[in-house]
Amino acid sequence: VTLYLLLACAPLVIAALPPRPVGRPFVVELGIALGFIGLGQIALQFGLIARSEKVTRPFGIDLVMQYHRQMGTLAIALVIAHAVVASAARPSILADLVPSRGGAGPFAGLVSIVALAWLRISSGRRKQLGLRYESWRLLHLLLSVVGLAAALVHVLATGIYAAIAWKRAVLIAYSCACVLPVVWLRLVLPARLKRRPYVVADVRAEAGSTWSVALTPEGHPGLRFAPGQFAWLRIGGSPWSLEEHPFSFSSSADRAGRIEFAVKELGDFTGRIGSVRPGTRAWVDGPHGSFSIDFVQDADSTLFVAGGIGIAPVMSILRTLYDRRDRRSHVLVYGCTTREGASFGEEIEEMKRVLDLQVVIVPMRPPEGWPGPSGHVTRELLAPLAFESGAPRTAFVCGPDGMMSSVEESLRACGLPPGKIHMERFQLV
Ligand SMILES: Cc1cc2nc3c(=O)[nH]c(=O)nc-3n(C[C@H](O)[C@H](O)[C@H](O)COP(=O)(O)OP(=O)(O)OC[C@H]3O[C@@H](n4cnc5c(N)ncnc54)[C@H](O)[C@@H]3O)c2cc1C
Repeated sequence: VTLYLLLACAPLVIAALPPRPVGRPFVVELGIALGFIGLGQIALQFGLIARSEKVTRPFGIDLVMQYHRQMGTLAIALVIAHAVVASAARPSILADLVPSRGGAGPFAGLVSIVALAWLRISSGRRKQLGLRYESWRLLHLLLSVVGLAAALVHVLATGIYAAIAWKRAVLIAYSCACVLPVVWLRLVLPARLKRRPYVVADVRAEAGSTWSVALTPEGHPGLRFAPGQFAWLRIGGSPWSLEEHPFSFSSSADRAGRIEFAVKELGDFTGRIGSVRPGTRAWVDGPHGSFSIDFVQDADSTLFVAGGIGIAPVMSILRTLYDRRDRRSHVLVYGCTTREGASFGEEIEEMKRVLDLQVVIVPMRPPEGWPGPSGHVTRELLAPLAFESGAPRTAFVCGPDGMMSSVEESLRACGLPPGKIHMERFQLV
């Protein structure tokens, strides 16, 4: 966080270092300062989305993406505030927006603002604009590169603060360095993935419109992951394709080689998953994420709360614990639409023979005469399950967004400290 703040302020610090103009009105300086902080914020967004483990591990990728959305919005607000303050201080600037009169600088500033505003609008209103996720992603990348490049041209062409050579060189180097992680993610990483291909070994139908997709490594030993983590998966096509989707590993982390994912039919990619033929090439970028029992030191007893396909990472954890013959006490609360639609129901029952596992299935639409709880997973249901001999269990929660928020609230209300609650959100945008 400290590094982020330092890097975000770096362009302002570079601009403020001598030599710099003196005796100008405060409001003009304020407007320019807002612009430099905005430039830093825009540049840093490229680093946030580059899936670096150093960035995502401590916080979880969902929080990092949420932070990216908030900081991206702040960056755009700063850049717009810069334009408003600058033109209020010197209204003649508006006429300079015509390139033949004002040159490249003011016009580049306008291009940057338009690109960034479109970036924000297309992100907030993707569905209303009818943009497919993949088209939006490409547009997002292009608009952000245009927004940053135009902002840099604006600074270099207009800025009296970047008039001398070393400042210009440092600002250009700073901007290029910030974009490097995305170059790595989109060009270099796929080249590395190409050398580590997988093939689809098996696609099995599970209950609840879900498919288990098994992959085996081709010509390499495969990857190691912690149970509960996820990977970005491309099936067919090229490792450079923008069509890649995040899926949690659902197989045991202790079985080397073959890996499995549980994929629920929800949209165009997942809706086609059942027709993928064994032998199809696949590319796996992972492991990612911090949602794992292996990353928690004091998980003496656990409470898993899964909703719908949120059972996928929990299956990976349970299957791994099963392989390890784990002796700790575990509770699984599994919210599903119907009892028959609960994926992996039989396997979970079977695991009880080896694990100290209590399973509470909570169907939204229970069958006639259902003896257990049904409907939403409530605080009343969780309260007696959240503690083991008076000590708080370590909770792992994964499911639809609405359910996760209410479960988190309920667990806190039951007295579980925030550090004991681990969440994995499947909704990044
Ligand atoms: C960390 C994580 C782990 C996940 N694990 C699983 C899992 O184990 N099993 C499972 O079935 N689903 C999982 N998902 C959700 C899965 O990624 C989406 O359901 C899938 O990408 C939808 O693609 P689609 O083309 O079928 O649907 P679409 O109709 O294109 O998309 C539906 C929604 O899924 C999200 N989405 C689509 N494409 C992507 C993408 N490339 N990257 C990020 N989000 C996207 C968007 O929010 C979109 O609105 C996980 C998501 C995340 C973030």
